[in-house]
Amino acid sequence: MSSCCALPARKETQTTLPLCPECRRKGRRVEPVTLKALLLPPALARLENTPYHFCPTPTCPVVYFAVEAESIYHKKDLKVRVGLKEVDDPIPVCYCFGHTRTSVWEEIRRTGQSTAVQSITAHVQAGRCACEVNNPSGACCLGEVNKAVKEGIARLGLKSGAAPVPEALTPARSGERV
Ligand SMILES: [Zn+2]
Repeated sequence: MSSCCALPARKETQTTLPLCPECRRKGRRVEPVTLKALLLPPALARLENTPYHFCPTPTCPVVYFAVEAESIYHKKDLKVRVGLKEVDDPIPVCYCFGHTRTSVWEEIRRTGQSTAVQSITAHVQAGRCACEVNNPSGACCLGEVNKAVKEGIARLGLKSGAAPVPEALTPARSGERV
């Protein structure tokens, strides 16, 4: 399995994680390769050789920040839309295989369920995912995909008997997170 989708093995504890300079929430460490892959050229030109962190707050425009460096990167500094910071479509949820919130919801509307998680998991197991250079968070997308599936099922409110009960709704799988 590709390391980008393995559980993080970082030694950093919550207390040592630095705070986003704008929203004051703790950031997640990202590898330099993620910034190098996703920053627009003028933004990349001011990248410094220091650890950067990803701000996970949906309403905060900051994407990356570093404690030691002056450089802070906002949504506009990236080549891609940061799905978890967007409310309007298109909202990417899986960067490697091109799933968006719309494509996930469309499948649920059509078939009553989503095969996105299964499909992505199969690609991950085959060593095809590259979240570290595609996903702005630098981490596996499955958490965001699961969230989009649950929202879609809740919004599209499947009528009983109209469609097979999606796996994501059964209690045994509802807490599943990869
Ligand atoms: Zn922030």
